Amino acid sequence: MERITRNVFAETAFRGCNPGFIITGQGVVMIDTPQRPSDAIKWKDEITKYGQPLYIINTENHQDHITGNAFFPIPVIAHQGTKDLFSMSLGSMEELKQRIQEIDPDGLHLMENYQPNPPTITFTHRLTLYLAEHIIELIHLPGHTPNEIAVYIPNEKVVFTGDNVFNNIQVFLHQAKPKEWLNSLEVIKNMEIDHIVPGHGEVCGKEVLGPMGEYIEMYMGEMQKAIDAGMEKEEVIEKICGMESLYQRPLPPGIEAYIHMIKRMMAERVYEDLSALPAAGRRQAGLTIL
Ligand SMILES: [Zn+2]
Repeated sequence: MERITRNVFAETAFRGCNPGFIITGQGVVMIDTPQRPSDAIKWKDEITKYGQPLYIINTENHQDHITGNAFFPIPVIAHQGTKDLFSMSLGSMEELKQRIQEIDPDGLHLMENYQPNPPTITFTHRLTLYLAEHIIELIHLPGHTPNEIAVYIPNEKVVFTGDNVFNNIQVFLHQAKPKEWLNSLEVIKNMEIDHIVPGHGEVCGKEVLGPMGEYIEMYMGEMQKAIDAGMEKEEVIEKICGMESLYQRPLPPGIEAYIHMIKRMMAERVYEDLSALPAAGRRQAGLTIL
């Protein structure tokens, strides 16, 4: 666990997303939760040293951000869209247990009385928490998912970006809004911050925002070139999936087995966006692992 400022902590070594928390004069506010039940239990022990947990904020609906909510019986705050997709993202109990069996066999027994903890407080644009001396601003910044939010703590000069920032980790666009993502990176760039806690990868500063935007532009640019060259959808997707230059960053642990599927989902998603095809009928379940 890393102490980023006096009151802000994050963990970048768990499998899954980077969870964090803020200590306020009224209690602890958590940002996302560990995916592995055994990590969630460790996390609880760490957090309770610093105070009573008050709220969980989920930055998005993917499993690696929401599965661990269940181990903390406190209210969850998220974008309305994250609430709407919550159950589908988590999957059935059977699917969930199967996933935990794969990633945390020693923690499987902790799933026995598992009760999902979905968001009960939602917003669509902004929500501000005033907790003693702390102001915590939740800002809708579509990008990696349509419902992605940033958690900005001005008095600590820290922002948790969710998966809108991958620091030196493969960028995943399988549910992305790529054009909006670029705008959202601009908003983050204009925040008064010293530290960024990305969804994946090490804690960093604004220097990572340039390369993030360049990657999204490169991905969209390569696809646009293929579309402009008159290629059919299937040809475009195959070309993009086969382009080594788009997959140079390291993969998060355990993703190798899924990378083929994810590359294809990414290409389909961005193709839809660039060619403005309706997303209707696209099955989203199973796209929710990171
Ligand atoms: Zn994600």
